[in-house]
Formats: sequence, structure tokens, C-alpha cells
Amino acid sequence: MKKTPFVTKEQVEEIVKTYPTPFHLYDEKGIRENAKAVKEAFAWNPGFREYFAVKATPNPYLLKILQEYDCGCDCSSYTELMLAKSTGFSGDHIMFSSNDTPPQEFAYCNKLGGIINLDDFTHIQILEDTLGYIPETISCRYNPGGVFQMSNGIMDNPGDAKYGMTKEQIIEAYKILKAKGAKKFGIHAFLASNTVTNEYYPQLAKQLFELVVELKEKTGCDIKFVNLSGGVGIPYTPDKEPNDIRVIGEGVHKVYDEVLVPAGMGDVAIYSEMGRFMMGPYGCLVTKAINQKHIYKEYIGVDACAVNLMRPAIYGAYHHITVLGKEDAPCDHKYDVTGSLCENCDKFAVDRMLPEIEMGDYLVIHDTGAHGFSMGYNYNGKLKSAELLLKEDGSVQLIRRAETPKDYFATFDCFDDIHITE
Ligand SMILES: *Cc1c(COP(=O)(O)O)cnc(C)c1O
Repeated sequence: MKKTPFVTKEQVEEIVKTYPTPFHLYDEKGIRENAKAVKEAFAWNPGFREYFAVKATPNPYLLKILQEYDCGCDCSSYTELMLAKSTGFSGDHIMFSSNDTPPQEFAYCNKLGGIINLDDFTHIQILEDTLGYIPETISCRYNPGGVFQMSNGIMDNPGDAKYGMTKEQIIEAYKILKAKGAKKFGIHAFLASNTVTNEYYPQLAKQLFELVVELKEKTGCDIKFVNLSGGVGIPYTPDKEPNDIRVIGEGVHKVYDEVLVPAGMGDVAIYSEMGRFMMGPYGCLVTKAINQKHIYKEYIGVDACAVNLMRPAIYGAYHHITVLGKEDAPCDHKYDVTGSLCENCDKFAVDRMLPEIEMGDYLVIHDTGAHGFSMGYNYNGKLKSAELLLKEDGSVQLIRRAETPKDYFATFDCFDDIHITE
């Protein structure tokens, strides 16, 4: 599929008059249409809820949009819980799917009324010691081990993953939790990441549905929800077809009817914790070409760097690039597109065929709406960019200001003998 940006050169030229590059830009229209499609795809399941994985795009303005579609928040840390609370989420709209969890974070989630998803068997005791009791609603994270494979060859390696409990542990966990007063149970598993196939959720759902039928038989626990977590992918490369959430929803529906309904469990709610699928395609990084260099290869230096988008540097991930205004020009130049970090992996693209780039051209780096800005760091004293929302009416709203040097030095502000000046 040809990848076209949701913003034009003319729009960017207008935006940069107020907000200089680099910045992350989000597409309100795309976010809304997708959130609506997700809701509709699972409308067959009255209890369905998407808990947006906050870590993917922790911005309250974007969370508020998802809130309009009855999404909840999936949090993994104290600060993310704070963000969820501050954005107006509470109670069963908060899911806490953490791991290696400090006890005080369980306590804070419990205070907010959120649902605790236990990553490990030992956390049962820690939770009881911390709260003095076991909450009425509780979830456990499952790890089947081995490899998870789909018919198109996509696979992942749960056996190597640090998350979740073994099957034996989960059966035991349910029995103990029930004995300690838990009444409503959930199960959670995340077995493959960025799956660009409509098969992943249905296949995972089948596995979890069969497990909860067995769990109910063996433990007598009242299982209220199955949390399919994240992992639904997006096509970063132009050769891939996007997932069809309606097909995915129907696929889950089919195995629900095959496995859960005959077992008398037709009231189980389906939850999801998608991050990438909810936001990835609806964000981009807009950056300007500011340097060119001809040595053994051709380099284009832009004003963004891995601090703004780490995925290419750490995973070698592909992010499509469009040179604005040259959408239809021939891609007859081969470039490495780089940032300015003193790290050779700071390249947004390697040997990428693009139209001829001139200094001052604006580049759109696609699909940065999830795990983009949020992974950023401050290496080389680089500052994090602004986040902007392209609203449905075409106007632009600042939803996070860019960092300034003051932010970078803020963690020294408690020392009387350190004075940072320009
Ligand atoms: C990262 C994560 C998600 C979201 O994953 P995506 O691939 O962005 O959908 C959901 N749940 C948990 C527990 C996670 O760690």
C-alpha cells in the first residue's frame, strides 16, 4: 500500500511559523475513526473494553480522545497510573499490567480502584502483605512458554519472555486468590508483538478461552474477563497490508462461540490493551533537512535525532519517509537520513531510495504515533520535541511543549552550588 502522510507541505509550512521542527504531529481524525472501528469490531461482546497502553503515547490530550470511546488505560508504572488518574480515569477503567512491580505501586493502583494484573505467583503474597487483603477483582498474566507461531510464519518466543506465570502456577494462583477472598477473575497474555496479520488475536483468544474453561473446572473461579493485551501490529513498510480490525473482531467472536459459549461462559468480557494499533499510524515526526554530506555514502542530516524516535536506532526498525512536496517525484537518490547524536546508529533510514532532497525540505517520518515520542531520552543533551494535534477542523493544538534547557537541568535545581547559565 502506498503510504501517504496525513499532512501536506502547505500545512507544515503554516505550522512551523508557530512551532519549529522537529515535532510529533497526531491526526485526530485518524485516531477517532480507528477507535470507533475497534469499538464496533467488538460490539458483539457487551463487556468489551480497550485499555489503551499508556506507555505507547502518554499524552493526556490523546488519552482524553480515547476516553470518548469508553477506552480505559493500561498502566505499567506509578507515574503512568498518576497520568491516568489526572486525565480522569478511575476504577475499572484502569488496568495495571506491570511486571517486577514495587509493592507501593500495587497499593496506589488499588487506591484508584484499578484492576491489578499479577505478573507473577509471588506477587499474591506481596499484594496481600501490602494491602492487608486480596482485592475482589484480580487478574493473572499467563505465559505458555515455547514459541507462538501463526500460519504466515510470524512467530514470537514466549519461552524467552520474562512475563507471566506458567500454567501450573496460574491454576494454583487462582485457587489461592479465591481462598483469600477474590471473587472476579481475569486472565491476560501478550504472546507476540507487532503482528501484521488478522490471525493473532483469534489464535491467542482460542488458547486463552480453552485455558479459562479448564481453570473454571479446576478451580471453580468466576472468570469475568479475558484480556488479549497488545501486539496487534501496523504496516510500517509499504509492502504490508494493514490489519482489518473487523476481521480480527469476527475471528475472536467465532472462537468465543466455539469455546466459551458451549462451556456456559458466554458472559465473559473481552479486553484489549492495544497501543501501537490505536495510535501508531496516526502520529508522525516532522523534521527538516539541515545538512548534507558526501563521503563514502550520501547523508542527509535532519534536525530530529534518535532522542525523538529511537526505534530505528535500537531495533533497526523501518519507518517510511516522505519528502513533503515531492510525493510524486522519482525515488532516484540513495541516502542515509541521520540525526546528530554521537552514535552511528542514529539513522532514521539507511540506503533509502528517496527523491532528491534539498536543504530546508521537510521530511515526514511515518508511524511514530506509538512507542515514538514516549521512548525518547536526553542523550547528548538533546531535548524532547513538542507534540502537536492536527484537529479535525484542520487547526493545530499544542499538546506538549518542547523541552527547554531548563527541563534538562531541572534535576540539579535542588543543589545550591550548581548554577547553569548560558
Ligand atoms: C506494551 C504493552 C502493550 C501494548 O503493546 P502494543 O504492541 O503497543 O499493542 C499492552 N500491554 C502490555 C502489558 C504491554 O507491555
